[in-house]
Amino acid sequence: MTLPFTLLIDPEPADSTRTDFVDTFHEIDSGAPALRVAELSTQRGDGIFETLSVVNGHPQEVEPHISRLVNSAQICDLPVPNPAQWRAAIAYAVDRIPGEGELALKFVLSRGVEHGPAPTAWLHATRAADFSAVREHGVKVITLDRGYPRGVAEEAPWLLMGAKTLSYAINMAALREAKRRGADDTIFLTHDGYVMEGPTSSVILRTDGRYVTPAPSGAILHGTTQQSVFEYLTEHGESVEYRDVTVDELRSADAAWLVSSVRLAVAVTALDGVEFPHDDELTRTLNASLLARTGS
Ligand code: PLP
Repeated sequence: MTLPFTLLIDPEPADSTRTDFVDTFHEIDSGAPALRVAELSTQRGDGIFETLSVVNGHPQEVEPHISRLVNSAQICDLPVPNPAQWRAAIAYAVDRIPGEGELALKFVLSRGVEHGPAPTAWLHATRAADFSAVREHGVKVITLDRGYPRGVAEEAPWLLMGAKTLSYAINMAALREAKRRGADDTIFLTHDGYVMEGPTSSVILRTDGRYVTPAPSGAILHGTTQQSVFEYLTEHGESVEYRDVTVDELRSADAAWLVSSVRLAVAVTALDGVEFPHDDELTRTLNASLLARTGS
């Protein structure tokens, strides 16, 4: 089968008793018009999404991605997705896309058409960009103030922190700001100096012999790749920890990584213009273990 591959999905309610979803899937030509002009995902970014990686025919971390989609829907007051339907849609796509190489499979749940009766959903698979150079050589990173204090998710739930919404314009602007400053990527900080996440990645650092990531308290996403990395590290006898991390602690860490589903683990090699220590051997090992995952 060729790429891109696109499937429109009629979303089933979460409590549906249906077990066969095939007639809710409609394969469409990826180049053909598919969304209505009044679609709220395009007009307002009002929807949620997930991107998972498919490596040599194996979709990665399906259950954590579906759980996060459900969590995002709850935060956004969207109809709760039916996990069995999304599981079936992913399996349907994986059966029809090439079984070798690295692919990115994005799935979207939108509030639908303005005044329309139902949410809109689709899934879209493409070949992943080639990240081999960045996995090998790492990224220069700047820190940027996200403009909110720690605890914002609890104090202001309407900001939808912690939901993976389609409103990624700020995240993309932060990457452009990094480029303007001669860097490749960004780590967001709370206004009061705590490490959050990258615009498209989670942050892991190594300090005092432990691997630490900011606690997914509600203001950041719980990264599926970060969870896989922590599983790998734990299995290999390392200590891992979720907790608040200050920017000073990040600056004095002895290694740090940005991790995400498709790019996988990339080492931070410079932070705010200052060279940053990196562990190239461990980065290679982590990526090899991430690429070897066959479960879901
Ligand atoms: N944080 C943000 C804001 C993201 O957009 C992403 C991935 O796109 C992540 C973290 C990492 O999540 P995952 O490892 O599940 O891809």
